[in-house]
Amino acid sequence: MGVPVLHRLALNESPYPPLPSVRKAMQQAVAEAHRYPQFYPDELAERIAEWCRVAPDSVAVGSGSVGVALQLLQAVMEPGATMVHAWRTFDAYPLLATMVGAHAVPVALSPEGHQNLDALLAALDHGTRVVVVCNPHNPTGSRVAVDALSAFLRRVPRHVTVLLDEAYVEFAGDADPSDTPAFLAAHPNVLVLRTFSKAYGLAALRIGYGLGAPALVERIRRQQLPFGINAVATAAVKASLRADSELRLRVDTIVTERERLRHELVDLGWHVRPGYANSVWLAAPDPVDEGAAALTDARVLTRHYPGEGLRVTVGDRRANDTVLAALAGLRAPARGESLSARGEPVPGAPR
Ligand code: PMP
Repeated sequence: MGVPVLHRLALNESPYPPLPSVRKAMQQAVAEAHRYPQFYPDELAERIAEWCRVAPDSVAVGSGSVGVALQLLQAVMEPGATMVHAWRTFDAYPLLATMVGAHAVPVALSPEGHQNLDALLAALDHGTRVVVVCNPHNPTGSRVAVDALSAFLRRVPRHVTVLLDEAYVEFAGDADPSDTPAFLAAHPNVLVLRTFSKAYGLAALRIGYGLGAPALVERIRRQQLPFGINAVATAAVKASLRADSELRLRVDTIVTERERLRHELVDLGWHVRPGYANSVWLAAPDPVDEGAAALTDARVLTRHYPGEGLRVTVGDRRANDTVLAALAGLRAPARGESLSARGEPVPGAPR
């Protein structure tokens, strides 16, 4: 048998288990488990719409945000069509494209870990049906500035649907929900993808949602599996929305820990750029492979891309201290580091 894992920081999960009120709601739903859930999850969609301050017909619910993304591809793809996305990104995107008989077209990230919006636009052609923008980005945690996103959206042709993946938006701290209805109205070819798996800590229950213009949402809802959203998960989401302010405090703690982790890593000599998800991204040429080995020895699971990078989910304070202790002995090569490590451009710096 393997050595037991101490900290699970590989999947960008929340370190917190469900709140007592959420657990209680789930237990009540378990007692009714002999009953079917709603045929289609209309009530949950209405509740989410109210919370997001959008019309009920602007919300599609699915089995995690990955389920909503699949429904979108099923709705808009044709065999042989293409889906353009940055690479690296969330691993599921190319898999989903294959599932619907489409081709995934990867577009390299910039050396700083940003999605290259001009290159994404250049990759669109008459056969493209979907382009993915992940904001904040997985795995680098970079974010797309509001102005750059607006300029990008203006240039995307209308036959292409933009999948704007905001799985980590709560950790970026700058989403203003009052803007959402106007944003959706201005961009009928955009689906904003969100999830209860990350900030709301319900990854096991598989509930995500998409916000979009009613015509697009209607097409996505047609791909909804009947009875496909389970009742225990629905009860947990509704209870989480009632406990929103308590859950937001958890997000604040994770953001504070993310900043502490980054600054302490920088002090240790790692070149960590600002990130806006619930993770930090260590990139080559810093010693990421040695870092991964040290973390494995410390019984910490992280996401290692050999020779390329290391994504460490922000855990609780103890987990983050374990990460810092494991990485402390591995100093990165010096190269104008105090500026570049803080995400500021350094003239002539290699990255
Ligand atoms: N989008 C991104 C960018 C992710 O990183 C993830 C999970 N790692 C997801 C979507 C999927 O999340 P879920 O299906 O649990 O909502």
